[in-house]
Amino acid sequence: MTQHAIEIEGLKKTYSGGKDALKGINLTVPRGSVFGLLGPNGAGKSTLINILAGLVTKSAGKVTIWGWDQDVNPRQSRAAIGVMPQELNLDPFFTPRGALEVQAGLYGVPKAQRRSDEILEMIGLTDKAEAYARTLSGGMRRRLLLGKALVHRPHVLVLDEPTAGVDIELRQMLWSNVRKLNREEGMTIILTTHYLEEAEEMCDEIAIINHGAVVARDSTSNLLGALDAKTMVIQPDSTVGSLPEVDGIAVTTRDDGTIAVSYRARQTSAEDVLSMLRDNGVRIRDVRTEQADLEDVFLSLTRSA
Ligand code: ADP
Ligand code: MG
Repeated sequence: MTQHAIEIEGLKKTYSGGKDALKGINLTVPRGSVFGLLGPNGAGKSTLINILAGLVTKSAGKVTIWGWDQDVNPRQSRAAIGVMPQELNLDPFFTPRGALEVQAGLYGVPKAQRRSDEILEMIGLTDKAEAYARTLSGGMRRRLLLGKALVHRPHVLVLDEPTAGVDIELRQMLWSNVRKLNREEGMTIILTTHYLEEAEEMCDEIAIINHGAVVARDSTSNLLGALDAKTMVIQPDSTVGSLPEVDGIAVTTRDDGTIAVSYRARQTSAEDVLSMLRDNGVRIRDVRTEQADLEDVFLSLTRSA
């Protein structure tokens, strides 16, 4: 038996319209980890996740979930994974308790082993247990989707953009639930997001996917550590002569007369940069910072790949 929660080999997906959404993905996710799948819209994240969930059929490749090959042991591989989908696809005529019971039935969980009350408590819907889904707020529906993904106690929980368009309170609740499931039950978590900070806060390891291919895969600290480039753009009060070279700080003068100071936020503080400038007699009229965003990250990664 393998020690990986998920193994993906040569995974390809071409949609019927001809779109090559996945172009040969190889990826392993360690058991017990919180694994982030990052990428811009259209990168192929949901396609990948929906293949794992058995909702989309792959065009080629091999997917193994908790040691079970999806094609050889479809029932076991499906039972090993629970997916909280990106879209709110709830039946409006079910109550939260009803939705959990139906889902448990679909997964063949015997009545005696169901734990709807416990799940309702965890997702904070105990007092809405008998309300119709159509009367629930967007946030409550999202929590219910999380609950549904958990009814069969999967080894692997997959969350597809769980916090897109969600308020801070719900986001924190989702994350504390996810952390708890990971730490206390040892559940392997895979989540997709396009928020770097979220990935940084939650994930042990990250894969970045772009145009249907994995462009980077590393521990979060290695990956984001390499991406903390910042640039401080200064408008000086008067023309500035040449500045000395300082370790870890690169200075260039731009055509508009501003000075761009590039540094690594983890090594050098903004205060270090400002005092270097002051020490060299630069009087600052205005200052702003530019930070690498995910787009820059993708660009630099696809370039170096
Ligand atoms: P992400 O979740 O990273 O935003 P998706 O997996 O949803 O990306 O989409 C990847 C690509 O596949 C996109 O170009 C998208 O338009 C296309 N796509 C997704 N679903 C379908 C579908 N059912 N039919 C045809 N093309 C699709
Ligand atoms: Mg998506």
